[in-house]
Amino acid sequence: MFKLKLHWQILIALLFGLIAGTLIQREFGLHAKETVYVGILKFLGNTVFIGLLKMVIVPLIFSSIVAGIAGRKKSGGFGRLGLKTLGYYMLTSSVAIVIGLSVVNLMKPGLVDGQPNPELVKFMSENSEEFEKKGASVGKDATGLQDEPHPLGVVGSLIERMIPENVFQSASDNGAMLSLIFISILTAFGLLSLQGQAAETLTDLIIGVNELMIKITGWIMKLAPLGVFGLMGWTISQTGPSFLFSMSKYMFSVILALGIHFFIVLPLMLLLLAKVNPINHFSAMKEALLTSFSTASSSATLPVTLKCLQQNVGVSKRVSSFVLPLGATVNMDGTALYECVAVLFIAQVMGITLDFSAQLSIVILALLTSIGVAGVPSASLVAIVIILQNVEATNAKLEGAFAAIGAIYAVDRILDMCRTSVNVFSDSCGAVIVARSEGESLLLGSPERN
Ligand code: ASP
Repeated sequence: MFKLKLHWQILIALLFGLIAGTLIQREFGLHAKETVYVGILKFLGNTVFIGLLKMVIVPLIFSSIVAGIAGRKKSGGFGRLGLKTLGYYMLTSSVAIVIGLSVVNLMKPGLVDGQPNPELVKFMSENSEEFEKKGASVGKDATGLQDEPHPLGVVGSLIERMIPENVFQSASDNGAMLSLIFISILTAFGLLSLQGQAAETLTDLIIGVNELMIKITGWIMKLAPLGVFGLMGWTISQTGPSFLFSMSKYMFSVILALGIHFFIVLPLMLLLLAKVNPINHFSAMKEALLTSFSTASSSATLPVTLKCLQQNVGVSKRVSSFVLPLGATVNMDGTALYECVAVLFIAQVMGITLDFSAQLSIVILALLTSIGVAGVPSASLVAIVIILQNVEATNAKLEGAFAAIGAIYAVDRILDMCRTSVNVFSDSCGAVIVARSEGESLLLGSPERN
């Protein structure tokens, strides 16, 4: 086992986790959660593996951004880099949303013959008590967005979350990535504009911290097979087959839309804009993709994404340490697409008709909230509540929507694993495209060289 390459170990662990989870679910059904087996799986995956990855996030993000920007005094052009990066984020997220919108309008997972699917309505009302409780508690989760509407709208709340009241507060909260990125960028440009020994020593120190964090990430990844086994087993053991069956058309629509973005749109962009062979890129990013799939958290995957991109793809620190930490919070194609599909699905099941302007506001809100959500599991659900609140037609029936949100929540983990992989993959493609446009030659072959 230990002679196998890490990604094979992770893949095998994923399969074993799947088997273990299914066996536990079969044996204990709804009581699986209380068993010691699930306790052990959760401990391995969530407490140890995700815990260790989370542990390095704050020093890693800070030191990566500062070392990436201030560590190379001669390489200017960050304004240009920033514009390209934001342009890429906006473009791919918008394309993702349009794909989601088209798939959900074509597939109509919540309708049968133009009416709310009676089977789904029955399923939700049978479980309404449990679902409503779950749905109503979603907004209260600490996932980065408040469920109270901000007086200045979604943009106002984004800016508010970017400016920390206290640096230590934002450095002690994994959900406050936007403000941490803001502090890091300010620090980097501050150091660049200072002269003298003190600024140089401080920059060198931060570069040292960065190297240390990358080393520690390498050690943590040695535990990835165990962690992934635990995470998969834990997830599957709690997903009852009846939930999966009733929600299957909805789940299929989400996976189809994510698949189009992941397997067609992003590879095409890599090919056309960066002249990089997408298959080589997939292969270079395997460890990061397997980690995002099993952790369902872009932030927890960030250390691995950085490692793969720098070591396997050969993107410079200057580009990767700027594009990736920012992307892990700001660029969430899978999340934006998912929010759009979920909100339209909820409207369909509740018999709410959304005209063109309502759908347009959902698109814009999905784009904005996907920028604001933290890269943690189930973060989208809070954004879905916010979108429902901000669209007149759905806000009028918000109370009734909680059962539907609860039903979505019940099958969320598997969809979360898929959309998080799309989020991480899109960040990595962005870094490659930006690096190429900056004239970098990468380790991956371009198609014409293969
Ligand atoms: N889990 C996702 C991520 O970390 C966010 C979400 O869509 O819930 O990227």
